Amino acid sequence: MQNLSALPRTWDLTSYFPSFNGPEYKAFKATLISDLADQLAATATLPNLDAANCRAWAKHINVYEDLVGRISHLSSYLGNTCATDAASEPGKRESADLATHFATLSKVHSELLRGISKADNDTWKLLLADPVLVGAVHTLNRMRTEAIHRMSGAEESLAADLGVNGISAWGRLYENLTGQMTFEMIWPDGRKETVPMAQRRALMSNTDRAVRASAFKEGNRTWAAHGETLAAAINAIAGTRLSLYGRRGQSNFLDQPYFDSSVSAATIDAMFKAIAANYEVPRQALRLGAKLQKATALAFYDLEAPSPLDPMPPLSWGDAVNLVDQAFSAGYPGLADYYRDILQKRWVESEKRANKRSGAYCTGSVVTGEQRVYMTYADTMHDANTLAHEVGHAWHSHVIKGLRPFAQEYPMTLAETASTFAEKMFMHGMLQDPKLTESQRAFLLDQECSNAASYLLNIAMRYEFEKELYTRRKSGELSVSELKALMTDTQRKVYGDTIADGDEDPWFWASKLHFFITEVSFYNFPYTFGYLLSLALFAEFKRTGADFLPRYEAFLRSTGVASCEDAVKSTLGWDLTSEKFWADAVSSVGVPVKAFAEIVAQR
Ligand SMILES: [Zn+2]
Repeated sequence: MQNLSALPRTWDLTSYFPSFNGPEYKAFKATLISDLADQLAATATLPNLDAANCRAWAKHINVYEDLVGRISHLSSYLGNTCATDAASEPGKRESADLATHFATLSKVHSELLRGISKADNDTWKLLLADPVLVGAVHTLNRMRTEAIHRMSGAEESLAADLGVNGISAWGRLYENLTGQMTFEMIWPDGRKETVPMAQRRALMSNTDRAVRASAFKEGNRTWAAHGETLAAAINAIAGTRLSLYGRRGQSNFLDQPYFDSSVSAATIDAMFKAIAANYEVPRQALRLGAKLQKATALAFYDLEAPSPLDPMPPLSWGDAVNLVDQAFSAGYPGLADYYRDILQKRWVESEKRANKRSGAYCTGSVVTGEQRVYMTYADTMHDANTLAHEVGHAWHSHVIKGLRPFAQEYPMTLAETASTFAEKMFMHGMLQDPKLTESQRAFLLDQECSNAASYLLNIAMRYEFEKELYTRRKSGELSVSELKALMTDTQRKVYGDTIADGDEDPWFWASKLHFFITEVSFYNFPYTFGYLLSLALFAEFKRTGADFLPRYEAFLRSTGVASCEDAVKSTLGWDLTSEKFWADAVSSVGVPVKAFAEIVAQR
């Protein structure tokens, strides 16, 4: 076997296209553009779906699916090219150009929805039975639901046009305004400095509590100065959505986010009820953090404080690669083989160098059936964990490759389940390693505790706030003071006594970008869902060992062909609408919390 740590750390993209903007790239793109135009012309003139034209619609849906696959191949390639060369002007130009082709694709999609929106049940059954649509029932039924909840073509088109200067403009205002914000930082030595708001988060995870407190307090002065504008934006964004939902016949503001996540209200209700009934589990994790910081209760600005444990020595790429390999090999040989294979094929980009975009992601192509992992490894255990996380996503795509493109589209809820499962596999392998030092063990358990606090408290708080915001927004705009009070009350309810009275963050709603994303609402619960489901999966793996892995892979294969509930029920036999299921997952966090408590007690 090749020495993994000696392999090149830059990825190879030549299987997408031999060269950027070369002849193969140009030919692929030209064919795609002309096929998109042909398809739009063909669907736009086809009358609505009926028994007579069923075959024709089936073929058009099939062509659309192929177009989606090809445009995402191009998009993945350009995304990768720009990520590794953020300054590339030709890359940016090609990406901008791609947006116009996505717009054509979206028009084709609209025609499909128009075509199927009025179909009766018998015609629909006829369409589903068409041989070219085998294995696409789940996606087609979702398209039908989407089609039913649409206004007329003219109304949707007007809404899209007005949206550019309406809801999207509020989102852009938020980004532009906050991008220029600064605040007056007062350093512990009394020195004053004007710093960009973008640096506040880093300052709020400074080791010095006085630095964190000043960044929090002085930063909030700036948020307060813009309070009216930000309240106008959040009210307008929520208000626009409520109007559109009403016009589209969606009675509940959660219908759309649940639909996007392929999950039912019963499931998410059961999940948050179970979390609320067990808030004490993650609160216990926070109390350990407070104890280490020698405080009785935390302030909001302590939530992202670094651990006062001994800092971990730098972890080289070579060591990280081998640790992930050992952990995967010990628990999941199939995953380990795949992992070694993708390192050898240079599907992983990890080198630290200039001009790379920040962040990490996994991408792939249904055209080539390949995956790619992007990250910048910076010698920390956190980055090693990111590697395991992204490889978990890649493994998910690998397991389902070969299925038709529709069946390879899974919601964010289930995407994060696969990545978190791989993280757990890594973490578990590390904790089993006899060579693990005491400080490494403390570090890993501390990580588990802080994950519990962020997924079970912080994200729960965001979800509860957003839910109440939309409920109240139905009867009018919320004032700045109402938004602040709602935020504070929600934090009190969720964090309990772990946050000291008066040390909440009433401006959290203003400072959190997620509430101002105009493409999706409730950008929170899918994370908690993925986290808890992966804990349940991992607990089952620990109980049943290697026998569990084929069931896990069957689950992964069903993520694009069924709702979250059905995918889990049909492959694992679990009922996601059961509060007990989620309560067990939350309780399982008690194990690492207890182990960490013992370490804290010894200090
Ligand atoms: Zn992820």
